[in-house]
Amino acid sequence: MQLTHPIFKILSGIAAEKGLEIYVIGGYVRDLILKRPSKDIDIVVLGSGIELAKTAAKQLGNLTVSVFKNFGTAMFRYKGMEIEFVGARKESYQRNSRKPIVEEGTIDDDQKRRDFTINALAISLNQDTYGQLVDPFGGIQNLEDGILRTPLDPVITFSDDPLRMMRAVRFASQLNFTIEAITFEGIIANKERLKIVSKERIIDEFNKIMLSPRPSVGLKLLEQSGLLEVFFPELTALKGVESVDGIGHKDNFYHTLTVLDSVSRVSDNLWLRWAALLHDIGKPVTKKFVQGQGWTFHGHNHVGERMVGKLFNRLKLPQNEKMKYVQKLVFLHMRPIVLSEEIVTDSAVRRLLFDAGDDIDDLMTLAEADITSKNEEKVRRFMHNFRIVRQKLKEVEEKDAIRNFQSPVSGEEIMEIFNLPPCKAIGDIKNAIKEAILDGIISNDPAEAREYMFKVAAELGIQKSS
Ligand code: ATP
Ligand code: MG
Repeated sequence: MQLTHPIFKILSGIAAEKGLEIYVIGGYVRDLILKRPSKDIDIVVLGSGIELAKTAAKQLGNLTVSVFKNFGTAMFRYKGMEIEFVGARKESYQRNSRKPIVEEGTIDDDQKRRDFTINALAISLNQDTYGQLVDPFGGIQNLEDGILRTPLDPVITFSDDPLRMMRAVRFASQLNFTIEAITFEGIIANKERLKIVSKERIIDEFNKIMLSPRPSVGLKLLEQSGLLEVFFPELTALKGVESVDGIGHKDNFYHTLTVLDSVSRVSDNLWLRWAALLHDIGKPVTKKFVQGQGWTFHGHNHVGERMVGKLFNRLKLPQNEKMKYVQKLVFLHMRPIVLSEEIVTDSAVRRLLFDAGDDIDDLMTLAEADITSKNEEKVRRFMHNFRIVRQKLKEVEEKDAIRNFQSPVSGEEIMEIFNLPPCKAIGDIKNAIKEAILDGIISNDPAEAREYMFKVAAELGIQKSS
């Protein structure tokens, strides 16, 4: 194998000098063969990884080494790469913990503790065998065939460390690989054990699935294996179709996946992808069959918005402006569609722009992806109307700058002009001005707004101070 990064020759030299056996292993080797970029290089040495890291760092000009004593690992950065060092080890597990009992081992032992055959590949950095591949489990063949398989018995592998089940699905989604049948059965058999894994670790892998080229690949596997039900039952609740008097509704789980993939084709924004995943999350609880109307999901956007808050909390996702952004998009997701079902008026567009602010483009992306109807005529009509909405959004924004709306007349000004103390009337006047701008009665312009302000004040019986 061709190893280009300069670190390999350097480490090879040190190992020869110290009489150590060393290899590059795991993700870096896999990605080298797949021609994918990597950010980290894992080095395994028969002996102490920490010692080797320190020796190498010193030779390279006193690089700073981060030592993780509890894990017996060390790391430094060199020429744009994180180089991680670990001693070859043998692991055994207890029932209730992801934390193994660790002993020193051979390269073979170390490869056996790896999660998948494609992650167990090693390349020798020893002088006599430099660049030779060590592939005890047929990892190369599996890479060629696009197959994920555990080196040892999958039931034991997944029971030992249930996070590996999430990793299996994550790699399947990132690489568009298939999980081999016996390995997949091992996941199904162990799905409940995901409960001993921390939410943070689960979400870490889940977000990698969300960021993969087609997240539906991973989500379908999570659903089929039963893992999704264990940590994300709100999503599996979207599944299924009910029928009353021969009238069915669409399967909202598969609809959601279609929307998510569509959004993912045009955006790498993780949180926009989350908004796509959760846009209909309020549907199962708001679902009703109404005679004469069919299936309704009244208020599912509002219920969904509240569920996002609870979900982000439970799944240990950020409780900050990222969550608020997802909530906002979930809440507003139907607005562009509703708008384009009628005649698209300037004032409706202005209100949409006011409510969405800087997130308007993302909202439009989501709303457009949400149209998954099989009725081509309907889709054509929507797309046509969406073009009108986008055009009008541009015009309205150019004319009235609604995106980051700030009242053209400030509260202080109003207080001064009418000699008022802080009181409710000031808010009422400001609100009336805002409404007039959104309705298109006046432009977003200080002079027009002032004139309008006097009119409103007069109606409220407020006099200009002399
Ligand atoms: P990426 O860097 O894209 O997340 P990776 O495969 O490099 O993918 P890392 O978490 O960096 O994943 O782990 C490096 C290597 O360590 C893996 O390739 C695998 O050999 C091993 N490994 C990581 N996590 C586990 C695990 N839970 N069980 C067994 N082996 C693991
Ligand atoms: Mg890695």
